[in-house]
Amino acid sequence: MARDLPWAGASPWGVLVSEVMLQQTPVSRVRRYWGPFTTRFPAPVDLAGASVAEVLGLWRGLGYPRRALRLIESARAIVEIHDGEVPRTPEDLLRLPGVGIYTASAVASFAFGRSVPVIDTNVGRVLARALAGRSLSARDARALAERLLPERGVAPFNQSLLDLGAQWCRPHPLCESCPVRRVCAWRGVGGDDPARGSAYVSRAQAPYAGSERERRGLVLRHLGPGATALSALESRTGLTRGDLERVVDSLVTEGFCGRAGEKVTWAS
Ligand code: SF4
Repeated sequence: MARDLPWAGASPWGVLVSEVMLQQTPVSRVRRYWGPFTTRFPAPVDLAGASVAEVLGLWRGLGYPRRALRLIESARAIVEIHDGEVPRTPEDLLRLPGVGIYTASAVASFAFGRSVPVIDTNVGRVLARALAGRSLSARDARALAERLLPERGVAPFNQSLLDLGAQWCRPHPLCESCPVRRVCAWRGVGGDDPARGSAYVSRAQAPYAGSERERRGLVLRHLGPGATALSALESRTGLTRGDLERVVDSLVTEGFCGRAGEKVTWAS
């Protein structure tokens, strides 16, 4: 039942990188990126000294490049504040840039064996369907997940809930082959899908084609190694001048790039 994940048993840094990559991104895609990335940047200190252009080059195609910027900032904070070691507690992990409650809990559990629940959209469905048989508020879902934690083996337990949600209890569940179908609360009571509207369960993403995400990706892909003129970006990306200006300004605000007049550069 457990998935064979290349980052299982990795260093705390390797686990942190995997969890950041897995935010809103399927395991199948992260598998292709995690190995090359952690080979090039095997420790926080290696990423802390890297250029934005190089990091985004390795990240290209994984999506949501904002995560790469936050990961660089996290690596720098780990070097400056934690002597280069990934912090062990959810509280300290939460202070790292781009690390939310899910990522902090996952790293604390999988890298350090801390007794905390790890709840993403997959686990949110399992909690609502298999365990509660009803839609849950965030507070009820968390309380239920905390009550379930075993005294020993918290990390494998958390991983098995994630695996169950990813492999069987999907948005369209595969109940006939599900290993817990005999004890599943929803299968017992029937009715509308309790995962719909339940806490932690995300809705379907808006399509990528035609989105602002696509336009941002286009601009980053066509930014040269030195200064690139806006007029060159306009012809390379095919964006209108108005769209290009807006996208470049947001990329500058978020720390991807710098802009001086008509020239755009990578952030250092
Ligand atoms: S039986 Fe169906 S609804 Fe219940 S946990 Fe398995 S896949 Fe989910």
